[in-house]
Amino acid sequence: MRALRPVPSVRHHVVVVGGGFGGLQAVLKLRRARVQITLVDRRNFHLFQPLTYQVATGALSPGEIAYPLRAIFKRNRNVRVVLAEVADFDLGARELLLRTVADVPAPERLGYDTLIVAGGSHYSYFGHEEWRTHAAEVKSLESALAVRSRLLAAFEAAEAETNAEARDAWLTFVIVGAGATGVEIAGQIAELAHDTLRRDFRTIDPRRARILLVEAADRVLTSFPPSLSAKAERSLQRLGVTVLTDRSVIGIDAAGVTLNGRDGGADRIASRAVVWAAGVTASGLAGRLAELTGAERDPAGRVTVKSDLTLPGHAEVFAIGDMVRVRDANEETVVLPGVAPVAMQQGRYAARVVRARLRGRQHGAFRYRDKGNLATIGRAAAVADIKGLRLSGFLAWATWLLVHLWYLIGFQSRVLVLIRWSFSFATHGRGARLITGASTNSEQR
Ligand SMILES: Cc1cc2nc3c(=O)[nH]c(=O)nc-3n(C[C@H](O)[C@H](O)[C@H](O)COP(=O)(O)OP(=O)(O)OC[C@H]3O[C@@H](n4cnc5c(N)ncnc54)[C@H](O)[C@@H]3O)c2cc1C
Repeated sequence: MRALRPVPSVRHHVVVVGGGFGGLQAVLKLRRARVQITLVDRRNFHLFQPLTYQVATGALSPGEIAYPLRAIFKRNRNVRVVLAEVADFDLGARELLLRTVADVPAPERLGYDTLIVAGGSHYSYFGHEEWRTHAAEVKSLESALAVRSRLLAAFEAAEAETNAEARDAWLTFVIVGAGATGVEIAGQIAELAHDTLRRDFRTIDPRRARILLVEAADRVLTSFPPSLSAKAERSLQRLGVTVLTDRSVIGIDAAGVTLNGRDGGADRIASRAVVWAAGVTASGLAGRLAELTGAERDPAGRVTVKSDLTLPGHAEVFAIGDMVRVRDANEETVVLPGVAPVAMQQGRYAARVVRARLRGRQHGAFRYRDKGNLATIGRAAAVADIKGLRLSGFLAWATWLLVHLWYLIGFQSRVLVLIRWSFSFATHGRGARLITGASTNSEQR
């Protein structure tokens, strides 16, 4: 296979890896500069990850939170989108090594003048990869759809089940990890069971479903102040979620979850629907860049970048977003929260540095501006910590709603999501309750 060279031009060629929050902002900020840009992603769309849990619980459809990368840049002739996976880096030759995706031919090598890597992160199962089969997560669109099918199929199976114990296991939902994603999913499953589905079945009463939220720390939402954690826990309890703090998962299999017991033993919970929302680890690209440049890695696999977000010895290579840890101007390492605003600010910063360099100017160190922390629990229930201003209830929920609509990519997605949320609020419905990916025996024949 041939190597892909920049479109013939004297322009500086910037290659951006990853069309997530960080990469997308870098390209948006650079597209009007006198540069040629190539955006490489193994998906052909930008995914708004903060709302994947709403796809997993049937509140939104995939197309409402994912936007094709080509559509975003269709008017920018200097931006080219390449569907491929980055397999490796040849930093000496200033080239990326690519791998094909979905049988779409891709060049083996792609040259660059400046490289911005924003490969993100993925869920880690604390060294227990075998748990992944039984406890799906909602990081990617594919896994969110798998969770949706699993949750809805659990209600169907309970309806068909004649054995009471087995039925209870189908109606027991365990969510592992009470960070923002875990809290949000638990709240959504509770609303699904206790509200949306309450009249849909004939044998079972979905309101009898048990929703258990397991957290190893002593409170939910540890990134929020304790007073807001307590409010979030009360909101969850009002929705019918049982919060189990100070409890660690020590086993997950097809029949349920094992927790460390309070007496030093182990407690078993029979459950057929487990959702994983615990620890994340950086993209493998971070580890590879660390190996190649001698940069440090932290226990979560993040590569340590300099205060201008470049790698040691390679001023032309930036790494940003969930996959990095940053050194501040005093050379101290700082772990910023793994949230979209960090990745977006870093993407915009990297673009500004590239533009400054092209004009022969210097640029200061990266500084994160923390605009606050938000998590929603259910209808009109959320918590917000905005520069010390602590909100809960309807006001926090309305803020959450506006912020998420604002940051969704594409006017069409914003309008569709707003209509969908307004409709769900009025009717308590969820229009996307579809079990997909299941084939029948006759289809398999
Ligand atoms: C379920 C969930 C809920 C969240 N909720 C919130 C929230 O409410 N608020 C908030 O601020 N943050 C939230 N986050 C965190 C936020 O989504 C991340 O911090 C943010 O996406 C990080 O941006 P990024 O650019 O580093 O990576 P990502 O946005 O993950 O983008 C990485 C991109 O790189 C591509 N990629 C990866 N590896 C390769 C490769 N080898 N080759 C080619 N392409 C590659 C991927 O396809 C992807 O498009 C949530 C995350 C999850 C999973």
